[in-house]
Amino acid sequence: MLQQTQVKTVIPYFKIFLNNFPTLESLSISNERRVLKLWEGLGYYRRARNLLATSKILINKHNSKLPKNLSDIKKLPGIGNYTGNALLAFIHNHPTIAIDGNVKRVFSRILNKNENKIDFNNLIEINKKNLFKAKRNSDFAEALMEFGALVCKPKEPECPNCSIKNICKYFKSDKKFKQTKTLKIKVKNYNIFCYIDKMKKKIALTKKHSLGFLDKFYLPPIKESLSNKKIKNWNFHSNFKNSISNKKLNINLYYKFTLKIPSQHQWFSLKKNSEFIPTFTKKIFKKILKIN
Ligand code: SF4
Repeated sequence: MLQQTQVKTVIPYFKIFLNNFPTLESLSISNERRVLKLWEGLGYYRRARNLLATSKILINKHNSKLPKNLSDIKKLPGIGNYTGNALLAFIHNHPTIAIDGNVKRVFSRILNKNENKIDFNNLIEINKKNLFKAKRNSDFAEALMEFGALVCKPKEPECPNCSIKNICKYFKSDKKFKQTKTLKIKVKNYNIFCYIDKMKKKIALTKKHSLGFLDKFYLPPIKESLSNKKIKNWNFHSNFKNSISNKKLNINLYYKFTLKIPSQHQWFSLKKNSEFIPTFTKKIFKKILKIN
């Protein structure tokens, strides 16, 4: 849940999730619809699917235990180097570090060197003896992340209060390295088309749409737009911006009142449906159903 999501957003979801699935086994015997319903609003739904799939694999193939080596952990759905190393450190206390943006920044400041010029794996390998001396590898991996988030922050690091300022080349140097600017996410333009059953306050949704990162979820028909031309035979409703997962969308919303909908579309109302509906779709529902 914490991948790409702030702690304060995650806490209520986490509590409800654990109340529903207090054990690995209870999660593993659940189904996607129930898991997604509990995840509703948290975004990045692939995480929920991966978590469910992982619980089944751990129960069925690994005797309900997390494997103890990185290559086996990485075979679990959605787990790469970063999460794999975090799990090895947190769960098995292995001498390893999850190298995220915070950790990279801390090391690059200590060395006063641009991140691009550091081979982090090699750096950790050659400093292994010193880094993992205390054998509290789990605490160390977590502390490093927290240190980057709370002390050695991206902007205005807390150098005067920092407990390692005496070994920090960035702090001591008059010639501080320049941090690489993070790339801005490009905004893409989309047109969304809402077929509305005015009497029943329903709109047509489909899983056959072009937003690959929301595949398998119900959305109104949506198409990437390459020009600003108004669309024939559709009423323009509004323009709005939306961020979903790590994508930024500039949306022109169109509608028409009709009882005919294309194939592979179904009518949905906001309240009466048992299907999982992403928050993005619910927002559109609320906008569009205000039309008189
Ligand atoms: S002294 Fe400043 S730059 Fe160096 S590690 Fe501490 S907070 Fe980061």
